Amino acid sequence: MGRRILFLGPQGSGKGTQAGLLSKLLGVPHISTGEMLRQAVADGTDLGRQAEAIMAAGDLVPDDLVVAMVAERLSADDARCGYLLDGFPRNEAQARALDDAMSGDALDTVVLLEAPEDELMGRMLKRAAEQGRKDDTPEAIARRLAVYGEETAPLADYYPTVGVPVERVDAVGAIPDVFSRVAQALAGAAGG
Ligand code: ADP
Repeated sequence: MGRRILFLGPQGSGKGTQAGLLSKLLGVPHISTGEMLRQAVADGTDLGRQAEAIMAAGDLVPDDLVVAMVAERLSADDARCGYLLDGFPRNEAQARALDDAMSGDALDTVVLLEAPEDELMGRMLKRAAEQGRKDDTPEAIARRLAVYGEETAPLADYYPTVGVPVERVDAVGAIPDVFSRVAQALAGAAGG
């Protein structure tokens, strides 16, 4: 099984949860751009200062900033044998930049987590109550879902055109059940 995997799916589909579990199983890092950016905001770095208001509104941080952040992260030693990307790439320009940064060989498989919109909305409102994230207001949630539909969802059609298989996984159900489906999809993916 290839170990360079992108988790794709709308907000609330469980990318972070599933990538975290798989990271432990495979021993490769879980790289979440949302987490990295929130850390940059918390640390008050230049990047954090540039990203803060954009994130709070639910818009995308400029591609050049995010691409540079990820390229640096992927050059670290622990990413040599693979990585699980969560939240990046989020549009086709980022996908192409990732491929350039990795000399055309960035990903083995895309796992696309799918769930109906009412399920996603319910999960996000629950998370908003639990975590108090600044971008979990109704306005920012709606904006993030719209951006996902316009810019990120098309990656599920883009990746097959560049030879990267997309495994669709039903993300509704208990966390361990969804994880079994993810593992099964990856076991059946190209490379076996
Ligand atoms: P969610 O998927 O719930 O929106 P994330 O933690 O993945 O949460 O991302 C939070 C915010 O961080 C995004 O709304 C966006 O502002 C910013 N962000 C994360 N990843 C990227 C990316 N690849 N490109 C641009 N902005 C990003």
